[in-house]
Amino acid sequence: MNAKSSILDKSQEELEEYCIKNGFKKYNAEQVMRWIYSCRLFDFSKMSDISKSLRKNLDENFNVVLPEIVDTKYETDENGSSKKYLIKFSDEETIESVLINYKNRKTLCLSSQIGCRMGCAYCETSSLGFTRNLTSGEIISQILTVEKDANFRITNIVFMGMGEPLDNIEEVEKSLNIISNDRFIGVAPRKITVSTCGMLNILKELNFDEYRYKIAVSLNASDNKTRSMIMPINKKFPIEDLAALINSKKPSIHNKTTLEYVLIKGLNDGIEDAKKLIKMFSPTNVKFNLIPLNKEQDSAYLKNFERPEDTAVNSFKLKLANAGFTVTIRFSKAVSINGGCGQLKAKTINF
Ligand code: SAH
Repeated sequence: MNAKSSILDKSQEELEEYCIKNGFKKYNAEQVMRWIYSCRLFDFSKMSDISKSLRKNLDENFNVVLPEIVDTKYETDENGSSKKYLIKFSDEETIESVLINYKNRKTLCLSSQIGCRMGCAYCETSSLGFTRNLTSGEIISQILTVEKDANFRITNIVFMGMGEPLDNIEEVEKSLNIISNDRFIGVAPRKITVSTCGMLNILKELNFDEYRYKIAVSLNASDNKTRSMIMPINKKFPIEDLAALINSKKPSIHNKTTLEYVLIKGLNDGIEDAKKLIKMFSPTNVKFNLIPLNKEQDSAYLKNFERPEDTAVNSFKLKLANAGFTVTIRFSKAVSINGGCGQLKAKTINF
C-alpha cells in the first residue's frame, strides 16, 4: 500500500486534477479544501456534502497531519503578548513560529525554511546553516497548528521567521494562494508581508511592481562595503541595483516598500549612514522600519555586534523623519523569549 501524502501540500489546481483523474468532479476539490481550511475539519469521513466514494478515496490516499508543538514560551506586557512555538515535523526537523498578539492584531511570524543559506552575520538563524525548504503544506500547517492552540484566528501574516522566503518562492507562493484565498484561510493580501534579504532576481520575477503581497526588504546598511560584510547576498546583488528596483516602483501611499534596517552599534547606525539612505531613496516610495539589534548576552555568532544606545537609535530615526520618511522603530516583541527578529534557531533552542 502506498504511504498517504499530506493533502495540505496540494494546490487547488492539483487537487482538481486529482479529482478529475479519479472520476470525481472538479468542484469537489474546492469543497474538500473549504472543509479543511475554512471549517478546520480534518476528518474526510465527516465531510457531509461529499460523496462516500470520494471520502473513501481521500481517506485511502491522503492525511491531514499537523506538526507537533514541542514547546512554547510566553511573554506578556500591558499591551499584549507573544508566544513562541517550537514546531516539529514528521522528519523530526524543527522550526519556530512566533504569535504576536497586540491590540487587535494577531500576527503570526512564519518560517519558510529549516535553517537558512543566506549567511547574514547578525542573524542567529544563519548560524544553523541550511537543512531544507519547507513544503507549502508545512508552511500552512504553522497557521493551523498555532490557531488550534490559541483558539482564535490569525489576522496578519509575516514571513519573518526562519529562512529566506524568496529562496523557497515556489512553496511560499503555493502556500500564499491558500492563505490569502477568502474561501480558505482568508488572510487578505494586504495583511501579508514577505520579508527578503534582497534576492533581486526573484524580486524581478515576481513582478515586484505589482506584487499582490506586501514586500519588506532587509537593507541593513547604506553602502556596499558594509552591506556585503554583513549580508553575503549583496555581493551578488549590490545595493544600488536593489535601490534602483525599489525606486522604480510606482509610488503609492498605501503600499510603500518597507525597508527593514537592523541597527548595529558603530557599524551602520551613524548619521552619515542616514544621510546616504536619504540620498538613495525617496519618502514617496519607501518607509523605514528600524530594528535595534536583538542579541542574547552570550551569543557566540553575534559576538562582534552590539545593540546601539537608544539615543543613537532616536537620532537615526529623527534624521530620516526630518527628510520626510515615515519611520517606525521595532523594539522587537518576544525578545525576552528569544523570539525577536533574527533570534530564531530552533535546533539549539534553549527554552
Ligand atoms: N530572510 C528574510 C526574513 C527573515 S529575517 C529577511 O532577511 O528579511 C526577518 C527580519 O529580522 C529581517 O528584517 C532581518 O534583518 C531582521 N533580523 C535578523 N536578525 C536580527 C537581529 N539579530 N536583530 C534584529 N533584527 C534582526
